[in-house]
Amino acid sequence: MADCIFCKILDGEIPSAKIYEDEDVYAFLDISQVTKGHTLVIPKQHTENIYNTDSEVAQKVFARVPQIANAIKQTYQPKGLNLLQNNGEFAGQSVFHLHIHLLPRYDKDKDGF
Ligand code: 5GP
Ligand code: ZN
Repeated sequence: MADCIFCKILDGEIPSAKIYEDEDVYAFLDISQVTKGHTLVIPKQHTENIYNTDSEVAQKVFARVPQIANAIKQTYQPKGLNLLQNNGEFAGQSVFHLHIHLLPRYDKDKDGF
């Protein structure tokens, strides 16, 4: 999709720090790290948000989350991990390519989140 930042990341037009990749799914560090290891998981197929994502695409993205969560756990050793997925501007969505936030949590991050 022409004006989509995440499609540009997928095309390599915008650099990103890769965490995971396969045929259908890409995960990379969020540019503004709310906590260390803050990661976004996206489908390679452009879809705006949960409302217009077909279940096959959703299944692929969500199915990879446990594996990616474990990779984050191993690398960053957080005390916990939040999943967050915003749909629509009102709900805080700012990039309109479906994505799941994986937010590692640490002892002293209470004020930063
Ligand atoms: P949303 O607010 O839509 O749920 O989340 C969008 C996220 O994308 C934000 O946390 C924002 O920091 C991240 N983001 C926006 N532009 C870029 C970019 O160019 N590169 C990376 N890695 N993350 C981005
Ligand atoms: Zn896109």
